[in-house]
Amino acid sequence: VVQVAVDAPLRQPLDYLPPPGCVAKDLPLGARVRVPIGRRRAVGVVAAHAPSSVLPLAQLRPVLEVLDAEPLLQPALLSLLLWTADYYHHPVGEVLAAALPRGLRDGAAASALVDRWRLTAAGAAALQAGEPARAPRQRQLLQWLAARAGAVAGEIDAEFGDWRATVRALTARGWIERDTVQTAAPWPQVGPSLADPAIGAAPPLHAGQHAAIDAIDAARYQAFVLHGVTGSGKTEVYLQCAQRALNRGRGVLVLVPEIGLTPQLVARFSARLSAPIAVWHSGLTEGERLAAWRAAREGSVRVVIGTRSAVFAPLADPGLIIVDEEHDASYKQHEGGCRYSARDVAVVRAQQCDTPVVLGSATPAFETLRNIELGRYRVLPLARRPDQAPAPRVALVDLRAHAASGGIATPVLAAVERHLAAGHQALIFINRRGYAPTLLCTACGWIAPCQACDARLTVHRSAALLCCHHCGAEEPLPERCPRCGFRVKPVGQGTERVEETLRGHFPQVGLARLDRDTARRADALKETVRAVMSGEARILVGTQMIAKGHHFPEVTLVAVLNADQGLFATDFRAAERLAQTIVQVAGRAGRERVQGEVLIQTDYPEHPLLHSLLDGGYDTFAATALAERRAAAWPPFGRLALLRASSRSASGALDFLTSARACAPRTDGVRLLGPVAAAMARRAGRHHAHLLLEAHERAPLHRLLDAWLPRIQELPQARRARWALDVDPLGID
Ligand SMILES: [Zn+2]
Ligand SMILES: [Zn+2]
Repeated sequence: VVQVAVDAPLRQPLDYLPPPGCVAKDLPLGARVRVPIGRRRAVGVVAAHAPSSVLPLAQLRPVLEVLDAEPLLQPALLSLLLWTADYYHHPVGEVLAAALPRGLRDGAAASALVDRWRLTAAGAAALQAGEPARAPRQRQLLQWLAARAGAVAGEIDAEFGDWRATVRALTARGWIERDTVQTAAPWPQVGPSLADPAIGAAPPLHAGQHAAIDAIDAARYQAFVLHGVTGSGKTEVYLQCAQRALNRGRGVLVLVPEIGLTPQLVARFSARLSAPIAVWHSGLTEGERLAAWRAAREGSVRVVIGTRSAVFAPLADPGLIIVDEEHDASYKQHEGGCRYSARDVAVVRAQQCDTPVVLGSATPAFETLRNIELGRYRVLPLARRPDQAPAPRVALVDLRAHAASGGIATPVLAAVERHLAAGHQALIFINRRGYAPTLLCTACGWIAPCQACDARLTVHRSAALLCCHHCGAEEPLPERCPRCGFRVKPVGQGTERVEETLRGHFPQVGLARLDRDTARRADALKETVRAVMSGEARILVGTQMIAKGHHFPEVTLVAVLNADQGLFATDFRAAERLAQTIVQVAGRAGRERVQGEVLIQTDYPEHPLLHSLLDGGYDTFAATALAERRAAAWPPFGRLALLRASSRSASGALDFLTSARACAPRTDGVRLLGPVAAAMARRAGRHHAHLLLEAHERAPLHRLLDAWLPRIQELPQARRARWALDVDPLGID
């Protein structure tokens, strides 16, 4: 019996018989087959062989067609995907299908390399001599090939029908020969596009970098945490370790949070490494994705740089896996499909391939810090470079004690003026795009609401729109209150309004803004980076997009305008997020020879979290915050799974979750909490709710899920609600 994973919401592969005349070993694990499923046919992947089926053999149907004689998915990649389906409790066929480009899911050839036949010199001579006289079919084919440079199977097919025996005979006589050619478009590549003279040169290494490179280079499987502040030289460690892996003939997989936001890292890799590189992200066309997939599998590409889904790139024989900014939330798939963490899957992949994995961050995730403490991961500290300016001075600005203009306190405005006067640049961070988060009628108290969500609409003044940042709804920006007709007023600040305020204060100074709205236009990001690099723009306003990957040597002042948002959020990870963001943004200040200055506006200058961060830096803050997590048994000291559901009616999701809870097997060491409505219950017209599972250990939680999910699927309510399981959720929302 062969077990085939098909792209359907089924927890297990389906059992089939080998096609007539075949045995199971003709269908290798990881090969694609065409199978009947219900009344349709589907392409699936052979996930296992089994001696028998739980179903009577007479009920099993045979595989219709074997599409790959060799496994499409190499054994290591197949076992990684099976592990992912198992750990995240997601239908195995969907996990496998998501890892394949559409062309391969539809049955396209595994390889872009095809056989081509052409005439040899001996063949040409034979033809001249009138041979083969007694084999008209051979002679016909020889003549036909003589008229062209070569022909691939499809072309010979079209001309000669059944030709394989003829070709074999001609090959045996040495009259024709076979080679292979690339048929498809080349894979997506990157060039060193940013004019940075330092990009191609290897800088001298400092002691910490030497130690890190030696440790990584000497290791087989080991998870390393490369822990260093911005500018401490993490990328150089990646590059040198990558080159060493390439020198040994191995491949290199590099994960980054977002390709568009890390152009400098990608450019440095392509300028420095002596191997073909493919980029891999959600913006690729299907054709590009297929080309990159095939090139990686065949070994024509030996370095893959990509976002989350690149963790499943079919790179042959990876010798090093790098996860840059490993704390970044984008590594976790948070909606649709299998909700995996690419960072955690990367560690498992490294383990399965027995290669080192490097998790780089200035602000490691709490899970990662816990793994260091437990001895599972090994930390490689990178100190500031000796030639680097001292760490920036960080100070709080008490919003209660100072006047503010458009949300910017007077001391911050004064600091901007001072740094500009010294010939430097300033970076203003506010974690909210748009003009203002609220549109208010001061006469009757009306606030513009989203019709589909329990949320307010954000004012986007330049586009003259009200937008919902949760469901994407848009409506025209009204001038008057729809309820009483009084004039309405935007309240609060977003990037657009901060930009306007700063233009008012510094009318002569070039200013740029970077957020999802300005970056929507292709090349806008590149243009902004160029304007800041060239000094054309001297003030940069932006969301966390400005905190990632860019190196602006002349920025010496960083101001954080709305830190308070993270101080009182209900999510257990809010403080960790806030500290990571502040440290990342602050890392943009004074990276060259000048010491930087960081100002954080707050209404709560006494808040203990801000103090531990300011006094002791991220590590001290993390130690304090981890102690709180331990006391509350939150991750990383406990394990969570979240069963999320949504429905059109207010009660549908809660009804489903209540029935799901009722059929949960009792398991010692696992607590079920809820169901409760989500913090924002109505989103995009659907009502959201969840049921939380909490455990101290992983094993009992996963035992419960294994037994529980088949029961949930049987529930009549399971068909009416939309539901998904999130193992190790990032947040409970
Ligand atoms: Zn009103
Ligand atoms: Zn909405």
